[in-house]
Amino acid sequence: MRVADVTEKASGSRGPVVDEALKLYREMLDNAPWGVFHSTADGRYISANQALAKLYGYASQVEMMAAVKDIARQIYVDPGRREEFLRRMHEDGAVSSFESRIYRRDGAVIWISESARPVHDAAGNFLYFEGNVEDITRIKNTEEESRRREAGLRQLVNAIGVGVSYWDRDLICRFANDPHREWAGIGPDEILGQHLEKLMGPARFAAQKPYRDAVFRGETTAFRLPLTTLSGEDVELQILFTPDVRDGAVVGYYAVGMDVTALVRAEAELAAHEKELRLLVNSMPSLITYWDRDLICRFANDRYNDQVEWDSASFIGKHASEIVGAEQIARDKPYHEAVLRGERPTFMVALPNKNGEIRHFRMDFVPKFEGRDVVGFYLIATDLTDLKNAETALRENEARYREVFNNIADAIFLTEVTPEGRFKVLEVNPAAEHQMGMAAAELVGLHVEEYLPPETAEFVNRQFLHCAERDSVHRCEIELDIATGHRIIHVTFAPIHDDKGAVRRILGLGRDMTEAREMEQAMLASEARERLAHGRLMDAIESLSDGVVLWGPDGRIQMLNSAVTEHYFPPGHGFTIGMSHGEAYDQFVYLWRSIGLSPHQAYLMTEAPNDPKAADISDDETFAAFARNWLETFTGTSPEIPGVNGRWFVIHRQRTREGGFVEFWIDVTERRNRERELRAAWAEADAANRAKSRFLAQMSHELRTPLNAVIGFSDLMQKEIAGPMSPVQAEYCGYIHNSGEHLLQLVQGVLDYAAIESDEIKVSLTTIDAALVLNQARDLMLPLAQKAGIHLAPVCEGEAWVSADTLRLRQILINLIANAVKYNRSGGEVRLDLTARPSHMLRITIADNGIGIPKERLGELFRPFERLGQEGGGVEGTGLGLVLVRRLAERIGGSVGVESDTGRGSTFWIDLPAASVPGQD
Ligand code: ADP
Repeated sequence: MRVADVTEKASGSRGPVVDEALKLYREMLDNAPWGVFHSTADGRYISANQALAKLYGYASQVEMMAAVKDIARQIYVDPGRREEFLRRMHEDGAVSSFESRIYRRDGAVIWISESARPVHDAAGNFLYFEGNVEDITRIKNTEEESRRREAGLRQLVNAIGVGVSYWDRDLICRFANDPHREWAGIGPDEILGQHLEKLMGPARFAAQKPYRDAVFRGETTAFRLPLTTLSGEDVELQILFTPDVRDGAVVGYYAVGMDVTALVRAEAELAAHEKELRLLVNSMPSLITYWDRDLICRFANDRYNDQVEWDSASFIGKHASEIVGAEQIARDKPYHEAVLRGERPTFMVALPNKNGEIRHFRMDFVPKFEGRDVVGFYLIATDLTDLKNAETALRENEARYREVFNNIADAIFLTEVTPEGRFKVLEVNPAAEHQMGMAAAELVGLHVEEYLPPETAEFVNRQFLHCAERDSVHRCEIELDIATGHRIIHVTFAPIHDDKGAVRRILGLGRDMTEAREMEQAMLASEARERLAHGRLMDAIESLSDGVVLWGPDGRIQMLNSAVTEHYFPPGHGFTIGMSHGEAYDQFVYLWRSIGLSPHQAYLMTEAPNDPKAADISDDETFAAFARNWLETFTGTSPEIPGVNGRWFVIHRQRTREGGFVEFWIDVTERRNRERELRAAWAEADAANRAKSRFLAQMSHELRTPLNAVIGFSDLMQKEIAGPMSPVQAEYCGYIHNSGEHLLQLVQGVLDYAAIESDEIKVSLTTIDAALVLNQARDLMLPLAQKAGIHLAPVCEGEAWVSADTLRLRQILINLIANAVKYNRSGGEVRLDLTARPSHMLRITIADNGIGIPKERLGELFRPFERLGQEGGGVEGTGLGLVLVRRLAERIGGSVGVESDTGRGSTFWIDLPAASVPGQD
């Protein structure tokens, strides 16, 4: 359908003018530069002009009308646009500038702008929509482009991190990007149109006035602004005010702010860094100087200024020859030339320091390049004296270690851990050579299994591996059969680390423990023996019935047997190991109290008080003091001490070599009891003896009277006073007389013996001349000797003073001389002597060369009635003479003795205490 048809239908009846007008209208529409259409409510075109067809990419209206059946789907890119079109039409009654994207026939998308209205008939019924379409693609594209550009620009302005704002002459904000707002702490809507002072606050506003004044004078002005941002960060801004000049007048200004915090920090860091660097250079262990190609010093640190005569600061700006002299420079010329060629020459120089000490410096020339050109050089002087000394010391140290290494008795194996995880000998010392019986040259380079028997090697390898893997010291013992025999070797494996801490080497230290082990074993054995011996000793001591106490040199009991405590102490008391002397005394006190004695009473019972030293022990207290001291020091045998159960004991104590005591506690109870019994028996016997002696004395006395009559009358008869007698009568009378005489002698002897036994002989000791008494006795015995034909030698002249009783001494001497005469032989001799003896004694000797006494019978002499076989012989005697001699000698403080043998004669003597000459005291 054509537009014309529609107009015809709509117009109804018409005249020629109208027709003309319609024709014109139709022509106009057909040729209009914009598209014109009529469309139905359901989205079909009723008519369209040529322009629309062209706009939509069709060759003609007819083609387009034929192709487009559904505007919503075929024309609009977004089919919803048709609905929107209808909605607006319905709501507003028309649509204007309704912009949509549509498809052209070739599928290209273009922008159109539609304006349309509904057309109704006279009755008001809807007929169709009439509208025009304009291609706005170009406009749309331009718009979009510029929007995109602006957004991009804005993004850029926001993204560059530079705050940008624009302020007009009245200081109203006309533009501000995001960073700016962020710094200012203002949201996007709050800043535009606001006055600067209101945004900034009066203080900051005033502070920035000089810069604003400058920018309004047309100057570009810059300044730094420290600021705390919204997020509380302290930042430093670099602000740039740029004037906006229009027609020669400043109409506003741009404020550009840049966050330079990092920059400022970097600057500060750089400054600090430079300072540090300078410090570093100054603290370098070398003097560092820099020289340009003309040998002018440009830099020098201050190293060695304190030690040497120069001041490096004064070098700067000077030519080298001014510093070290032209001559030196001439000498150093080769070095200068070399370094300026880019080489790095170096030499050593010895210089004295301030103290005149020679120091060794190494001088290093280091070229400074700029590109390929050498622009100057560094001269670095380093004092190596200490290093050299240290090196020497190190060498010496190493030598010392080497000495230890070579001389130590332990075998040292330095072993390398090979990359395959095996262990190879790197170095060994002489002790190791000795231990292995191999030379170092043979050992070095060998793996463990190459120098040890397989089993040992496996074990040692395992130890090496542990040491390397666990990085710890390992110790073990191995047994080896080597040249010197079966050895026990204590081996220590110690890891050695490289500079990265890895275990690369292992030090093996082998100590031959064979002898030590043997010694240990021997010691253990001897200890065991000792223990055994000790045990046996203890058993032996324990089995003793005597008590044994061993006191240590510390005054405490070291050992004791149970006899001590069991025999003498009440139950629950007694000695224990570790007790001191004082504590031991307390035990004695318990003991005595348990038997009802105070310590002092017990002491009195010991019979020790007879000791004159103990005179002032009068009570428990003085005794305790005495006893404690005595217990600490005494040796020998103690007095008899009372114990429990009526027992008595003595302590026999000796010093030990260790400085203590050993005590034996000996039970004397029985001996003591026996002694008592004996004493009682003795007293009894003594009394009986005395009675017997008294009886004998009386008897003898009674016997003497009739005997005297017998002797007297027989004597008268022999002298024939009462008439002559026949020879036989005379002979018989002689027997009576002799027997009487003998009997009287016997009675006299018994009387004397009885008298002496019953203690009835009184002696009075005075100082007498023994020589005189001996002479008297000789004179008395001379007739008897002459009668028997015995030579009785005279006594030597002189005095011999003794303490004795004259009568008793004479009696003794007469008896001894009589025996010497009696038991002699015809022509025999008796000698009498006086000799001084040691200890102020005087000896009187009566020696004969008669029959003598058998040696073995000498012990039987001095017994009453003992005549040693003479009783059957021709010599008359009673066997009482010698008994009297001994008793009398004892009574006068002397003693007798004899020496004799058969056929050799006898020598009797009596020793008496010598006395000083009377009147000469
Ligand atoms: P008696 O002479 O009366 O027999 P003594 O007591 O005087 O008794 O002597 C005891 C004995 O000692 C003598 O019987 C004699 O055997 C011996 N005897 C004493 N003196 C001598 C002596 N000088 N030489 C040899 N025997 C002696």
